[in-house]
Amino acid sequence: MQDIQTIRSLFPILQEKVNGQNLVYLDNAATSQKPLVVLETLQHYYQHFNANVHRGIHTLSQLATDAMEDARKKLQRFINAKHDYEVLFTKGTTEGINLVAYALTDILCKDDEIIISYLEHHSNIVPWQLLCQRTGAKLRVIPMTEEGVLQIDVLGEWLSEKTKLVSINQVSNALGVINPINEIIKKVRAQSNAWVLIDGAQSAPHFEIDVQAMDCDFFAFSGHKMYGPTGTGILYGKEAVLNQLNPFHGGGEMIDRCTFEKTTYAGLPFRFEAGTPNIAGNIALGAAVDFMNEIGVRNIGQHESKLLDYAQRQILEIEGLRIYGEKAARAGVLSFNLEGIGIASDVGMILDKLGIAVRTGHHCAQPIMEYFGIAGTVRISFAVYNTFEEIDRVIEGIRKAQKMLR
Ligand SMILES: *Cc1c(COP(=O)(O)O)cnc(C)c1O
Repeated sequence: MQDIQTIRSLFPILQEKVNGQNLVYLDNAATSQKPLVVLETLQHYYQHFNANVHRGIHTLSQLATDAMEDARKKLQRFINAKHDYEVLFTKGTTEGINLVAYALTDILCKDDEIIISYLEHHSNIVPWQLLCQRTGAKLRVIPMTEEGVLQIDVLGEWLSEKTKLVSINQVSNALGVINPINEIIKKVRAQSNAWVLIDGAQSAPHFEIDVQAMDCDFFAFSGHKMYGPTGTGILYGKEAVLNQLNPFHGGGEMIDRCTFEKTTYAGLPFRFEAGTPNIAGNIALGAAVDFMNEIGVRNIGQHESKLLDYAQRQILEIEGLRIYGEKAARAGVLSFNLEGIGIASDVGMILDKLGIAVRTGHHCAQPIMEYFGIAGTVRISFAVYNTFEEIDRVIEGIRKAQKMLR
């Protein structure tokens, strides 16, 4: 990997002062910062070839179309999809999951089953609850242990011809726990015809993804958590599976022929991309992928694991502090509380005064918080530009908070 200071110099925001201190940004699981190349790509598009895509015959429209389709190919290679048209542009993980949940309305019957896990983000819970309300299907939730490990043995009993979908995140945003998705997918294939959706919002920023080797049917992630712009993301779907789904949104771009009597739809991927897309954002997401490839996704992940190990070792030396999922395999996230002292947000506020950005609260995963009987945690989460010195500053900040709140 390149020198860390070289990498940091690519992120202009890291020069900002917050409350008079050098910014320490450790809220990357909420959204990462953007390298200059992503910012420049956005500006370059608007400044030089802004036009609508797939419509105009004029030069600018062709340039915009080519750039966006080029970005789609970059994303295809990024996740090793078989075809570029299996990559649907969305505005993020939430929209990707909702697209699938909406399409399943026409496919599911009463008493069919959807399986999720205890470790999900609200956006991988609520769309399925809504789908169950519409169809009479049932939602089953894989339980977890005190250590934040999913008890996937239940699948042996649960999977049947009634199971229509299993939807699990690869890495939990609340605890950082890495879920055994390969094992889960194997079990699903052996015992049912269910489709599998992997929520990759917290894995795509840290892991090399290979959707063909993984053999999932859908894979969703957000661009803004992996150095890309907000309002971007993709839903990957296997060609044969996407071809069985009705469109999500109706509108321009997604039709083959439209009359008042009957409309026929365009092929993949456009059938699922109604309306003018986030052209600038999608192109810039391609630039974010280039950025990650240049450093090497594996190098990024390794750097972050070292930071996580270092932070965990330091944090465990602080008395009265509990890390959630401490013993589980984790990536990118460390979630903890100072036992018996105040609430997580008090710690977050004190750290903010020191220029340190962390997330406090339930992390859009209230069931997990309920399980542990807490309102929330303090979460620090890592990106490629974080340093060991920054961890030292957080540890110092936590010790300070502990003294102040005692
Ligand atoms: C952030 C996140 C989501 C939702 O992503 P959006 O970008 O808000 O659509 C879903 N699942 C996980 C695991 C996440 O971390």
